[in-house]
Amino acid sequence: MIPAPLRLRLDGAALVANWRALARMSGDAACGAAIKADGYGLGARGVATRLADAGCRDFFVATWAEAMALADLDVSVSVLHGVREADLPVALAAGHARPVLNSAAQVQRWRDAGGGRCDVMVDTGMNRLGLSPQDVADGLIDGLNIDTLMSHLASADEAVPLNREQRDAFAALRGRSGARRMSLANSAGIALGGDYHFDLTRPGIALYGGVQAAAHTGCIRQVVMPQAQILQRRLVPTGQVVGYNATWRATVDTPVAIVNLGYADGYLRCFSGRGCAFVGDRRLPVIGRVSMDMIALDLCAAPELDEGDWVSIDYALPETAALSGLSQYELITGLGGRFDRIWAD
Ligand SMILES: *Cc1c(COP(=O)(O)O)cnc(C)c1O
Repeated sequence: MIPAPLRLRLDGAALVANWRALARMSGDAACGAAIKADGYGLGARGVATRLADAGCRDFFVATWAEAMALADLDVSVSVLHGVREADLPVALAAGHARPVLNSAAQVQRWRDAGGGRCDVMVDTGMNRLGLSPQDVADGLIDGLNIDTLMSHLASADEAVPLNREQRDAFAALRGRSGARRMSLANSAGIALGGDYHFDLTRPGIALYGGVQAAAHTGCIRQVVMPQAQILQRRLVPTGQVVGYNATWRATVDTPVAIVNLGYADGYLRCFSGRGCAFVGDRRLPVIGRVSMDMIALDLCAAPELDEGDWVSIDYALPETAALSGLSQYELITGLGGRFDRIWAD
């Protein structure tokens, strides 16, 4: 394999520490892990093996393709999008994975197919996926072999009345479904307090370094660090410009690095003139526009850098979200296929 000129440094110790912190904050509830979208862009297998070794037992993906990519690992997987007709052959045969049934049609499909254990999603106010509490009261899921009854919070990262309303609507279903467990909280939901934890929590973004709640500040560590190699170094004379549309002009003779990273890798145009890279603690601002496969960095703080040297991209999620206007989720799930994903451990 040819090594790529860009890589994601993935800190496995930080990932595990984040999961342990969230498990601790989840109190008596078990703590699972959302690893949909290929582990939020890090690589679902690398995430799942490390968290399974740490004791995580419950994993959540979106689709059956994602579930089957983990079939050889010793993990239990819930498929959040449920089961389509086309998924049935795989879903019925998969020993390690079960569907999260979201609609009356999915419930009927699973019953008709003689499906075994499943999970069920109830919508308590987000109006995204799930049966209504009334469906549950009407007996729609009676007799199903349900592991976990779930609901999902719309605004867990905000202090709004909807959180309490959703929590209360969900709690009212206790004892009504025959489910072995109940699960409500995502990352931010864990920070809302003990009465949001139920039996199982489902953090995603916080595992990967996302911080949305004051309670997570200081205990959630950065996991993902993009790094890229310098492709060319040049000296831009005073008065000359750099990049598309000439948005940056040198006010002094400036050493500049052209680096192997661009918007096609998920480093979007909003970082033009705003992002920065680091070498040690020396800061190298992005100058001019982000190109498809390249950025330009001002090397004034590290003039010795040359072709082939590596720089680290400033990518701490909360700060980078504030800087860019992108969500912390978009920042990591958008990192493309051209990175070599390299776990530090
Ligand atoms: C993605 C997802 C999660 C994890 O959410 P985070 O905000 O990333 O912690 C939990 N539950 C469901 C149903 C999800 O879709």
